[in-house]
Amino acid sequence: MTNLGREFAEPTPLEPGEGSVLLIAADVDEAAILLGKLGAVTEESLRVEWVTSLQDGVERLRDGGVAATVLDLSLPGSETNESLDTLFRAASDVPILILSETSTEAAARQAVRNGAHNYLLKEEADGSELRRAVRRMVYRHAAETVAIKIEIANAILDSIGEAVLTTDKLGGVTYLNLFAEKMTGWSRKEATGRPVGEVLRLVDSATGEAVDNGVAKVMQGDWKRNAEVSTLHCTLVRRDGVEFGIECRVTIVTDRTGRQNGAVMAIRDVSKALAVSLEASRVAQHDVLTNLPNRALFYDRLRQAVSLAERQHKQLSVLFIDLDQFKRINDSLGHAVGDKLLQSVSARLTACVRRTDTVCRLGGDEFVILLSQIEHAEDAEVCARKLLRAIASPHNIDNRSLDVSVSIGGSVYPDDAPDAEALMMHADAAMYEAKLHGRNGYEFFRSDMRVRIASRLLLERDLRYALGGHQFLLHYQPKVNLDTGRITGMEALIRWQHPEHGLLLPESFISIAEECGLIVSIGQWVLLEACHQSRAWNDAGLGAMPIAVNVSAAEFRAKDFLSCVRAVLIATGVEPGNLELEITETVLMEDAESTLITLQNLKAMGVQIAIDDFGTGYSSFSYLQRFPVDTMKVDRSFVQEVTSDPDGINLVSAMIGIGKSLKQHVIAEGVENQSQLDYLQQHGCTEAQGFLFSPPLPAELAERLFGTVLGRPASAALPV
Ligand code: C2E
Ligand code: CA
Ligand code: CA
Repeated sequence: MTNLGREFAEPTPLEPGEGSVLLIAADVDEAAILLGKLGAVTEESLRVEWVTSLQDGVERLRDGGVAATVLDLSLPGSETNESLDTLFRAASDVPILILSETSTEAAARQAVRNGAHNYLLKEEADGSELRRAVRRMVYRHAAETVAIKIEIANAILDSIGEAVLTTDKLGGVTYLNLFAEKMTGWSRKEATGRPVGEVLRLVDSATGEAVDNGVAKVMQGDWKRNAEVSTLHCTLVRRDGVEFGIECRVTIVTDRTGRQNGAVMAIRDVSKALAVSLEASRVAQHDVLTNLPNRALFYDRLRQAVSLAERQHKQLSVLFIDLDQFKRINDSLGHAVGDKLLQSVSARLTACVRRTDTVCRLGGDEFVILLSQIEHAEDAEVCARKLLRAIASPHNIDNRSLDVSVSIGGSVYPDDAPDAEALMMHADAAMYEAKLHGRNGYEFFRSDMRVRIASRLLLERDLRYALGGHQFLLHYQPKVNLDTGRITGMEALIRWQHPEHGLLLPESFISIAEECGLIVSIGQWVLLEACHQSRAWNDAGLGAMPIAVNVSAAEFRAKDFLSCVRAVLIATGVEPGNLELEITETVLMEDAESTLITLQNLKAMGVQIAIDDFGTGYSSFSYLQRFPVDTMKVDRSFVQEVTSDPDGINLVSAMIGIGKSLKQHVIAEGVENQSQLDYLQQHGCTEAQGFLFSPPLPAELAERLFGTVLGRPASAALPV
């Protein structure tokens, strides 16, 4: 017998939730009595459905629409807690009232402990008592359910990372979650009932002016049409004055009939996100090492400054700054020192200019400064001089005092160029010019520089044809034993017979060849040609003349350098011991470890090694000891100073001393007069080279010197 009583009673809704009372009672007589009590046709009667078994009860509960369950414990099998559990599980949110006999009271109590709401003894419960109990149970259950739901909602709202604030329809605060308390500085209790504008102080992020919170606006608007939301981006001022960048969404709350009865404001703290995105863009626009603006940001500012200067008819200047010989410092003292030096330089550059100017690191040891507003072109020169002075005073890096200088090239808007790109190009050209005139100087762009840049480009073009066009030749300069006046070897020096410009010296084309990479093939040609010449002299019966060849950085570091040297020696039949490779001190020290390996390989081949231009680089003494070097060539600049500068005298004698202590031949370069020669001889220098003995000569003239005694004034030597 199932569902007997489904349509039995008057359909009276059971407030506060809708639904009926489900009576589970197996005994028909009992059920009839209970139905009578519950569903008595009175104004307070309840709508009751009746089922006769627990299983039917469970099914009915699963269908929903039941507000309360009344369970007659005299149900067969219902005493087992297990069957009751099934019932509880089927409708955990429907309260259950147990009806029991006095004899089953213990089981009824147990059922309450297991989850039933309450129990009543049948004999004590008349109709109204039973109905009251059911109603009470439903009300209490509803209240508990609401309390739980609110608690859950609060917990959820408190756990989210957004501030949530609700208002009534007049804009009075009704609720703040924990986050909103933190962001506004108001506690829920204090804020409740206050106008939302008082609790939530919003101002414009840029101007600081008060911003409307949008609640009233949204309330007045047609909420259906504008999707009940408005979003604000502004600054929230906390009660204690601390400010947050926020995004605030205002949503209207309506009841079922569509009546507005308040607003919900969800506020997100975007100041952190903003800070992160600002930091990301800062990183993208700045140099990591110096924290200076990078090239992209610099161009941006330069373009802006140019258009501003154009509008305001003002001038501006771009200064290109390049550290002199930075590579040497970096290579000899290490990158860590080099980096700190760059930081020190960047700090000094920044200190020299106005806050409105921009100092940028273009990369490596190159900086550029935008002087955004200058009255006269001369102001930029004043600034350049100030920068030179600032950089020149020693830099204290890791308890080491380092001297550096810079070369500066400047251009001025609008005189030199009309736009950012041309200003940069011309400042760069001027910087190049400054380098040519020696270090620690500045140059401003002049139109003749344009001509020079163009001619340099032309020279580079011509250089590409020079090898194939057999336009290179070698001159030879003797090295002389100062005791005997005899030639100990010949240094091969390259010349370029340019079809239009005549005979060019290496200084006008070697650096171009190095920059465009041609130097490697040119160097191979020099090596082969010099060895051929040595062999030719030998074959002509002039004896095996030791030959020295200059090797540039790119050649020395080239992968096939060793095999190239070996191939040339085999091809020409020159004794390895008669070939000397001259490598500048700077190149040797560039990457000392790999230098050591290459030098050891060359020594294993039997080739002689000379350190060229000694004294112009930053040598590490420990490497000098480790490098298998045969000869030290004291740079001409020191030799020339021996007669003019008293310090120069000491330096040369010190270098001679170092060379001797390292058991190297010491050759003094660029000896031009007798007093220099006298000095060198007095200080134990045994070999020299220079115009005093002979300038570099074509092979056919150089060979005439073989067997002669040199050492008399240059007039004795043959002209070039
Ligand atoms: P370097 O190796 O130091 O060569 C010596 C330079 O000093 C030569 O200049 C020579 O003519 C000059 N010189 C010699 N004696 C005197 C003197 O008494 N007074 C003065 N004022 N100068 C003197 P040059 O031939 O113009 O060569 C300049 C530089 O070009 C060389 O300096 C060397 O570094 C480079 N170079 C020359 N030939 C080659 C080459 O075949 N390959 C490479 N990579 N570089 C070369
Ligand atoms: Ca040399
Ligand atoms: Ca030299």
